[in-house]
Amino acid sequence: MHTQVIVLGAGPGGYAAAFLAADLGLEVTLVEADTRLGGTCLLRGCIPSKALLHVAKVIGEANEMGQWGIEYGAPRIDLNKTRARKERVLKTLSGGLAQLAKRRNVRRVHARGLFVDSQTIELEGGNPDTYQSSRLTFDHAILATGSVAAMPRMFDIGSPRVIDSTGALALEEIPDSLLVVGGGYIGLEMGTVYAQLGTQVSVVEMTDGLLPGADRDLVKPLARRLEKQFTHIDLGTKVVGLRAVDEKIEVRLEKAEGTSGESVRTRVFDRVLVAVGRRPRSDGFGLENTQVTLDPRGFVEVDQQQRTRDEHILAIGDVAGEPMLAHKASHQGRVAAEVLAGAAAAFEPLAIPAVIFTDPEIAWAGLTTTQARSSGRPVAMGLYLWQASGRATAIGRTEGLTKWLIDPETDRLLGCGIVGSGAGELIAEAVLAIEMGCVVRDLTDSIHPHPTLSETLPFAGEAYLGTATEIYKPKRQRKS
Ligand code: FAD
Ligand code: NAD
Repeated sequence: MHTQVIVLGAGPGGYAAAFLAADLGLEVTLVEADTRLGGTCLLRGCIPSKALLHVAKVIGEANEMGQWGIEYGAPRIDLNKTRARKERVLKTLSGGLAQLAKRRNVRRVHARGLFVDSQTIELEGGNPDTYQSSRLTFDHAILATGSVAAMPRMFDIGSPRVIDSTGALALEEIPDSLLVVGGGYIGLEMGTVYAQLGTQVSVVEMTDGLLPGADRDLVKPLARRLEKQFTHIDLGTKVVGLRAVDEKIEVRLEKAEGTSGESVRTRVFDRVLVAVGRRPRSDGFGLENTQVTLDPRGFVEVDQQQRTRDEHILAIGDVAGEPMLAHKASHQGRVAAEVLAGAAAAFEPLAIPAVIFTDPEIAWAGLTTTQARSSGRPVAMGLYLWQASGRATAIGRTEGLTKWLIDPETDRLLGCGIVGSGAGELIAEAVLAIEMGCVVRDLTDSIHPHPTLSETLPFAGEAYLGTATEIYKPKRQRKS
């Protein structure tokens, strides 16, 4: 079998690349080890977690209706139905991808692919009916093999009660207690799901704050709310040992030096979710038989055209570097397809949005305060606290804030950070504004619908200009 373009891995990077390459007239074979298309994001990541976060949100909102004098009883949960509904979502979406592949004449191979050399892949396992020969040669390959959960050896005690994100999404039970190791994206999203379902959730985070990659002013309102939802949040704390005892897991926790309180404690949990990061899936499938090079963390090294050091192989998505986000993978997939079709494409975004789908959500795009500080770049800030927003007050969610980072010389919008209800949807406007090179007046002169949370974006711009209707700052110099 020979193909013009082989795409290895059918996650959001791989299928976006395969579909666009086919649309651009290339002959494409998509090789995926899983029975279904969609990759981590659709089958074990973004989509199932957001389906369960939807459930958590509705439970949380129903609880809060007490403030309006409307009381619901405690939820009666039929986990079989919850799981079945979640599975239906995945089936619908992955079935849709299969249809789209077929319509585009993308040849699907269900097998694990191993590189024999720079232009040959050995096919192994899966469904041999989907391939006539066990070897596939190609002009170009797009590597889209994604990433896997990091599982430090200490946690590998052979207990089914120690789980990773896939185990947490399986929703086998609602444990009485859950320890989440790692206060990052997965830890806080899945912790939120289980807390709303009724589990006593504790979090241990090694660094001195939740979500160490996010600006502190964005994390603060979320941390305040999570302190109420979670039983314990232990910062500056590491797991130093764990063992299975009866039906439970006994965990030894150690506080970092210099922090107050007991330095070592032992606690017992029904389940432990390990969410300490992910690593690129770049080993075990013959990359050493090609010219592809890896960086010290195992990411495939690529240039702006997504080309590796091997002239026949491009790489995209999680395997090709941080941030490990689905929309970055898809965008790189589209760049790779265009490059192979001969277009002058490059991956050079000004803003890759990041969203943590907790309640409140945190979202940012472009330059962050942390990056500006560490690089010494002078920036001005336009800040709008949601306490002044009519919509936020109406829905009882005034803890949010919206901020812009602005070039003080040109008024150009460089970055945006939002914490609050629906921040993940709101950040899209900021991405467009930053990519389009907008200045503050472009934003403030565009009429936003009232009363919406989207108004907080121009209001933050007006705060910078000193012209905000709902903020009185007489000493600030107005900008024309
Ligand atoms: P993947 O989606 O990992 O796909 C790689 C595919 O390659 C897999 O299907 C795998 O089976 C296949 N494969 C690997 N090796 C081979 C081989 N040798 N032969 C054949 N096939 C192979 N990102 C977001 O942007 N938003 C979110 O809300 C979000 N939520 C997440 C929640 C969780 C719990 C997790 C774990 C991740 C989440 N992510 C989220 C991250 C997102 O899932 C990844 O960034 C994204 O899936 C990366 O896409 P990819 O195409 O690079 O790889
Ligand atoms: P993460 O990098 O977001 O967070 C891991 C956290 O674990 C960090 O805060 C780190 O300091 C902490 N940590 C590391 N080792 C530890 C230890 N031994 N003890 C205690 N804490 C420890 O990683 P994640 O939450 O596993 O998620 C992996 C990746 O998946 C994310 O970085 C993101 O790229 C992607 N993801 C994205 C979304 C989204 O876009 N909403 C959701 C889930 C996952």
